[in-house]
Amino acid sequence: MGDFSLLGIWGRVPEQYEDLLRIPGVSKKSACIIGAKAFGAFYGIAVDTHVWRVAPRWGISQAKNRDILAKDLERLFPKEEYLNVNEYAIMIGRDLCVPRKPLCGSCFLRDICLQKGISSL
Ligand code: SF4
Repeated sequence: MGDFSLLGIWGRVPEQYEDLLRIPGVSKKSACIIGAKAFGAFYGIAVDTHVWRVAPRWGISQAKNRDILAKDLERLFPKEEYLNVNEYAIMIGRDLCVPRKPLCGSCFLRDICLQKGISSL
C-alpha cells in the first residue's frame, strides 16, 4: 500500500462521512469526531470507552453493542450537541465515573443519574 494520509487522494481532508470512512484506520468513531471538529458536521455520537461505560450507568441505554448505543444517544440529543456529549462523557468518565469505584458522591449528575450497575461494582 502506498503512502496515505488524511489528505489522501483528495489533497485535503474529506468532509463527507462516507469519504472519511474510506481512509485506512479511520473508524466511525474517528469520522464523527473529525467531522464535528474540522467541519462542524455532526454525523453521530462517537462511542469510545468512556461513552460505552457511562451511558449505561446514566440509565439511558442498555444496548449490547456500540452502534445501537450510539443510536440510542443520538435520539436523545440534538445533532449540534453530539460533540458536547462526547466531550462531557470523556471528562466525567475520566474524573468521576471511573471503571471501579465511581465517585457518585462528588458527581454533579448524582441527582439525575440512575447509577445503573454501580451497587454491584
Ligand atoms: S452519579 Fe455515579 S454513575 Fe452517575 S455519572 Fe456520576 S459517577 Fe457515574
